[in-house]
Amino acid sequence: MKRILVIGDGQLGMMLAAAAARLGLALDRLAPGGERLYRGTGRSGEDLPPGWNGADYDIVTVEREHLPDSPLIARLREHPGFAAERAVRLLADRRSQKRLLDELGIATADWVLAESAQDIEALARACGSAVIVKAAEGGYDGRGQWRVDATTAGTVPAALHGQLIAERQVAFTRELSLVGARGRDGSCVFLPLVENVHRDGMLRTTIAPARVPPDFQRTAESMLRTLMDALDYTGTMAMELFEEDGNLLVNELAPRVHNSGHWSLDGATGDQFELHLRALCGWPLATPRTEGRRSVMLNLVGCDFDTRWLGLPGARLHWYGKERQPGRKLGHLTLGGANAGTLAAQLQACIATLDATHADAALNALVLLAREDATTSATATRYAAHPAARAAPLSARA
Ligand code: AMP
Repeated sequence: MKRILVIGDGQLGMMLAAAAARLGLALDRLAPGGERLYRGTGRSGEDLPPGWNGADYDIVTVEREHLPDSPLIARLREHPGFAAERAVRLLADRRSQKRLLDELGIATADWVLAESAQDIEALARACGSAVIVKAAEGGYDGRGQWRVDATTAGTVPAALHGQLIAERQVAFTRELSLVGARGRDGSCVFLPLVENVHRDGMLRTTIAPARVPPDFQRTAESMLRTLMDALDYTGTMAMELFEEDGNLLVNELAPRVHNSGHWSLDGATGDQFELHLRALCGWPLATPRTEGRRSVMLNLVGCDFDTRWLGLPGARLHWYGKERQPGRKLGHLTLGGANAGTLAAQLQACIATLDATHADAALNALVLLAREDATTSATATRYAAHPAARAAPLSARA
């Protein structure tokens, strides 16, 4: 039995542990600071004995690309079973990530290193648009980002200059993502492209598969394959995309399982977690099939557990058992059905159990599905009058 160590003790590691248990693999999770080890899906960690270095494990992997700078993590990164060193090194920093995309000729938003307010102003002037300034390292879920223009570039804290990139604000029609896995032998499989809706920089809903022209799937797969090949990567990787004027631009890459792939646990014949483990073990990969099923994944953020979710027909609840904090991802719901109409009916039932923010996200998914189906369209119009339907970006996209 292979022994796998995941660096990270969040929900992604937990979902990897659940997949490992099903495949007869022993998988433990290490708290990011390196201070505690959690066995399998266990929730009570144990202290590490002095001198512990993970040598007992055959494989080391990550659930996050931002790794602390510590002697233990440095040793684990040198472990012969850690296959993602190059990917983690290059992708955890937006500067090297963007350079890699440019070197490989993969389309991404124009960007500059922001070493001064003048760099940001110059980009804003050259693009004739606002720019998004992002911390090069450590930012996630919208943290460490500023939206500025040529006149407000000076509001970005000067102490951070040199540690930032600035990007053209993309006028995207929608956000998509592709999750794929590459085996040790270089073979790749991909999930279908999905459509994602973010709010304040955080993923709120995913619709899977996205309704896209057939060449989008081919183009996105070729982009991600090129990247995974260039990094000689093994495992699951996620690529977030903007669709702008019919073109795909890469927003961001994550060398790990990803929130926008969670739907695959319930909506496909294989999931991103199992693919990651299969790839790491050198086992065959198989392309997961949706067999016509559509899914909506709704993130549950900073809210209380509600048993009514368990009573929703066709819904599957994943609750992470984490301490409640505002803005923290605490679980997700997957709704599934054979077509947009069935999903819309499920979303309506679900909306009644949600607070305003979550209802707004669910309503947004309903509005997006309405573009596909006349019956749903009528429902979406009715629901646009729902008290929770507050936000302009959602209705504006109908
Ligand atoms: P990120 O952390 O880079 O994935 O950004 C989080 C979210 O902010 C994205 O999913 C977009 O909704 C938005 N965003 C980030 N970069 C840009 C950009 N260059 N143009 C427009 N929106 C962006």
